[in-house]
Amino acid sequence: MARVYNFSAGPAMLPEAVLQKAQSEMLDWHDSGMSIMEMSHRGKQFMSVYEQAESALRRLMNIPENYKVLFLQGGASSQFAMIPMNLLRGKTSAAYINTGAWSKKAIAEAKRYATVHIAASTEDNKFCSAPTADQIDLPAESAYLHYTPNETIGGVEFSYIPETGNIPLIGDFSSTILSRPLDVSKFGVIYAGAQKNIGPAGLCLVIIREDLLDRCSDSIPAILNYKTLSDSDSMYNTPPTYSWYLAGLVFEWIKQKGGLSVMGNTNQRKAEKLYKAIDESSFYANPVAHVARSWMNVPFTLADANLDSVFLEQATTRGLVTLKGHRSVGGMRASIYNAMPEEGVDELVKFMAEFETANSL
Ligand SMILES: *Cc1c(COP(=O)(O)O)cnc(C)c1O
Repeated sequence: MARVYNFSAGPAMLPEAVLQKAQSEMLDWHDSGMSIMEMSHRGKQFMSVYEQAESALRRLMNIPENYKVLFLQGGASSQFAMIPMNLLRGKTSAAYINTGAWSKKAIAEAKRYATVHIAASTEDNKFCSAPTADQIDLPAESAYLHYTPNETIGGVEFSYIPETGNIPLIGDFSSTILSRPLDVSKFGVIYAGAQKNIGPAGLCLVIIREDLLDRCSDSIPAILNYKTLSDSDSMYNTPPTYSWYLAGLVFEWIKQKGGLSVMGNTNQRKAEKLYKAIDESSFYANPVAHVARSWMNVPFTLADANLDSVFLEQATTRGLVTLKGHRSVGGMRASIYNAMPEEGVDELVKFMAEFETANSL
């Protein structure tokens, strides 16, 4: 069977070239006579995989020297707890921007450890926008400001980086990391689960400014302590070695494609094609404010929800799969991360137009 265009929000498509490379190295990695999966994580061979992945990421994202890159487990969800556990640093309150489902989960977890101040919320607007910079209320005593630059379910993305002065800014970049260039120096912590735009599930990337490691409390369990994890170079225990290796291959693939500005241009073009198709039709709709529309996750509804299942069935027969929207939103969602080729978006737009013609009243 031919490979399909998979619009899943995550785990999501991986670049075919990466899968092929992994396949060719599956049984025997670089004349080692072993698969990566069978190697000691502390051996010379895996250490070279580690270093290659980290240095490729540092070059791609232009990560400053005073940031540590951690390759952890537990997904982005573990960071919802690790951030307040590690970063309150003697303070009692932390600020959170609430822009949808993932923000809410981060907030709920933080409430176990801190007084949460909601610095801005778009809930009144049904999470169809991001707050403007002047709507963000950040008390001086906040330990940090946390936000979700891209809400994967709602398809809402910030078009700017909030200014926080001396207060560390924390971003859950799970569904938008590596989608375009980013000024890492604006952040205290950037984190992302891998299964959307980095590699396979099982890995969570954390990029943390070194000065934030100094005051992680000793009472935090070692496996959840950024300082312990950083001091042991992400090898306090056995890391997810195969996911780490695949992430490294994805970083190399992005570099070969021309890096993050090329990625950004392609992603913007892909998203614009899809939103244009939605906006120019009276059959499809997307409720998100134009400035806050995500380049990565594009939810849309059909004029008649009774047609949803027919739409999904027919799309699948055309090799356009996993377009069903999140259960909390309904309708459709097309996730178009880095690994989704532009032709996949073109095929979807073509199918949508044909479906509209066939089903309009
Ligand atoms: C998918 C996602 C998560 C959860 O990731 P896990 O790796 O499953 O824990 C958190 N935040 C955002 C923005 C996401 O898209």
